[in-house]
Amino acid sequence: MPVRSSRRLILGLDVGGTFTKAVLIDGAGKVVARDKVASLGFSNKKVFEAATKGVAMRMLGPLGRDIKDILSVGVGVPGPVDFDKGIVLSLTNIRGWDRFPLADFLRKAWRRPVFVENDANCMALAEARAGAGRGCDDLLGVTLGTGVGGGLVLGGKIYRGPFYMGGEIGHIPVAADGPACGCGGVGCLERMIGNAALQERVRVLFQRDVLLEETSRLAREGDARALKFWAETGEILGRVLAGVVHVVGSRTIIIGGGVAEAGEALFQAVRASFARHAMKQIKGRVAIKKAALGNEAGMLGAAWLAKEEA
Ligand SMILES: [Zn+2]
Repeated sequence: MPVRSSRRLILGLDVGGTFTKAVLIDGAGKVVARDKVASLGFSNKKVFEAATKGVAMRMLGPLGRDIKDILSVGVGVPGPVDFDKGIVLSLTNIRGWDRFPLADFLRKAWRRPVFVENDANCMALAEARAGAGRGCDDLLGVTLGTGVGGGLVLGGKIYRGPFYMGGEIGHIPVAADGPACGCGGVGCLERMIGNAALQERVRVLFQRDVLLEETSRLAREGDARALKFWAETGEILGRVLAGVVHVVGSRTIIIGGGVAEAGEALFQAVRASFARHAMKQIKGRVAIKKAALGNEAGMLGAAWLAKEEA
């Protein structure tokens, strides 16, 4: 008997280097269960396959539901993805996943439609559907952490472009004399405001190691060095964001990831810089907000993608 649409469930997975997060949403996008599983041994694809079924069963059991109630599966991964072919192009945190045809592999195991997407794109979609950008069809999602990731939702859909690199703002070159980047470029945004670069600047400024959280507290208290640090960081990011909006016209920019926890110290500086660099037709018309879904955004975006594509 076919599953009634009102009872269908969608599984979203966010495969990380340490943990894989899992969520079940219903046809309306409501979260009905969440769980996680260690990504241990995922270099062995059979271990990965068994883990996806195991975590799904653990969520379905208490609901009195079964694998057959799952309509489709979405998977987010922290690396570039050929979405159309469902291939992970490269992945640094799990060995053996370069060029892995993940969608085909899970489709055979699950006998359901499977969609694979880059995790920053998943974050942008999740924030557009159920987060801080809810209802917004033209949104840029930015993740600030060890890396600087980005995802674009344009006209209500993830924009990937022909190279599947749409929205990759982390590798916009911003400093001609900046440090070399792993991508082959020089002075990329990620090399200027990624976690490692920020920690290095803090060390120089304070002459000691200071946690980023402490610098945001110090900024709130009016500490000149902390204010300077966040003003410089916000200046770089706000300038890049203004450039992106000039090209693609995002109405909403959502910033998440560990560094976004700096809060207003960062956001005030980014908004001020954006206002300085944005064209007058755009100034004051773009909302720059903190992400609302935290580290659940990846799995939620994967689930929403599978719900909408299936
Ligand atoms: Zn780069």
